[in-house]
Amino acid sequence: MSEIQEQVRRRRTFAIISHPDAGKTTLTEKLLLFSGAINIAGSVKARKAARHATSDWMEIEKQRGISVASSVMQMEYRDCVINLLDTPGHQDFSEDTYRVLTAVDAALMVIDAANGVEPQTRRLLQVCRARNTPIITFINKMDREVQAPLDLMDEIERELGMTVVPFTWPVGMGKTFRGVYDRRADRMRVFTAGEDTRGGDEEVLEGLDNPETAQRFGSEFAQAKDELELVAGASPAFEEQAFLAGHQTPMLFGSAVNNFGVREVLDALVDLAPPPGPRAAMQRTVEPDERKFSGVVFKIQANMDPAHRDRIAFVRVASGHFERGMRLKVVRSGKELRPNTVVSFLSQRRELLDEAFAGDIIGIPNHGVLQLGDTLTEGEALQYTGLPFFAPEIIRSVEVADPLRSKQLRAGLTQLGEEGAIQVFRPVAGSVLLLGAVGQLQFEVVAHRLEHEYGVKARITGSSYNVARWVTCAPEDGGEQELKRFIDANAHRVALDAVDAPTVLLDHMATLRAVEANWPKIKFHAMREHA
Ligand code: GDP
Repeated sequence: MSEIQEQVRRRRTFAIISHPDAGKTTLTEKLLLFSGAINIAGSVKARKAARHATSDWMEIEKQRGISVASSVMQMEYRDCVINLLDTPGHQDFSEDTYRVLTAVDAALMVIDAANGVEPQTRRLLQVCRARNTPIITFINKMDREVQAPLDLMDEIERELGMTVVPFTWPVGMGKTFRGVYDRRADRMRVFTAGEDTRGGDEEVLEGLDNPETAQRFGSEFAQAKDELELVAGASPAFEEQAFLAGHQTPMLFGSAVNNFGVREVLDALVDLAPPPGPRAAMQRTVEPDERKFSGVVFKIQANMDPAHRDRIAFVRVASGHFERGMRLKVVRSGKELRPNTVVSFLSQRRELLDEAFAGDIIGIPNHGVLQLGDTLTEGEALQYTGLPFFAPEIIRSVEVADPLRSKQLRAGLTQLGEEGAIQVFRPVAGSVLLLGAVGQLQFEVVAHRLEHEYGVKARITGSSYNVARWVTCAPEDGGEQELKRFIDANAHRVALDAVDAPTVLLDHMATLRAVEANWPKIKFHAMREHA
């Protein structure tokens, strides 16, 4: 096996998807703790505290340094290098959140056992499902009074349309949470509360028919046994292929705050989650263990110093071996780049940052040379596909307070649009620009940055639109001509996006359905892929 093959084989790149407060931050910290990156763990919490302490973007901006560093966390566990990509949640939910999911090979879904499947989980999961990303499920907070595990299992299957395969099963819950039974190893790990245990010294009881366990945990154990019998009859065996295709999800129970069930999550990532696979480019499919480096920009983040417009491009390595100082080509522009300073993400071992293999993320500071969706290679003309833009869910109009600065407004919005901070739409009829986002905070960020980086006081106000869809027409349905007919007939509600793709803007989903019925030859898309 070549060095590159060996390195690819041990990579695992994943993101956590969850609803706010399900325990993502806590679990992230514990994963770092269990993999040995102890001193790092505190900074995850610090970052969240900083974010919570304020709703003021100015303050959030001060945290940008931390937020860049902790948006990718690298840890080593067993023989694997695990990359955990942060998906911002809460009020800073944005299109970035979606795009990060295109850079991972697996997702860990964290569910609060009391609340079950919540809206944000559902939303993020749809993105994973669209890409057949394999998903591991962790049911958190078993130390609280929560829903019955069989009900949770049903709910997940129903809501998410996946078959759930329990790998562990809880014995009791809340005050009488006794531990989890590992169905494969046929043993029970006994629960002890507390944040200080790092595992290794847990108590393990062998077998489901163990009289000692039955006596110690009486009714909880008897109930778990009954449930396990039901589960054994009702749920299918784990099938790797079904998991990798996103049809089956292994389910684990635990309590992150009590360090309970965390090691099992790491083991599942190592044993079940796939290493990086081949990636489709327009020209050909690229294997992760090819000798030459290639990568794709999936996220751009403005950095600390707004005056210098410096940005960090997050590049997911798709193939080959990256070394600091190597010469790279930006395929779109043909420009050359030689990143000597590569942003260090949190890692327990510095040397991991100096080189990277498929699955790893590198952060390249630049002044606008790199755009969202750009492919970097050692020279080959490759363009990766699949970086999605999502139809905005919130649409606002934007005007400049001082009309003399409308040029600056357009310039600023163009750049912010390139970064993916916001989507900008120009109505076919009319001159007021429209902004589209999936998260409220995107507008605050844009208003703040327009003022501080471009000297433009923007007035962002409501619009009557709530639904946007990109429109296309296949050649066999009339192609450009039919599309033009549609645009002309709907000129009052059609706008062009940053790459001039026509978009229809509507007030309600019901209106969309009516328009769709009236124009059967037109296709309406909720997602557009970067060309
Ligand atoms: P996030 O918003 O998903 O990042 O959630 P956090 O990790 O910040 O957790 C939200 C709250 O739930 C915090 O107060 C945590 O201490 C608490 N929490 C996390 N895991 C557990 C758990 O296993 N049991 C209990 N009882 N609380 C937990």
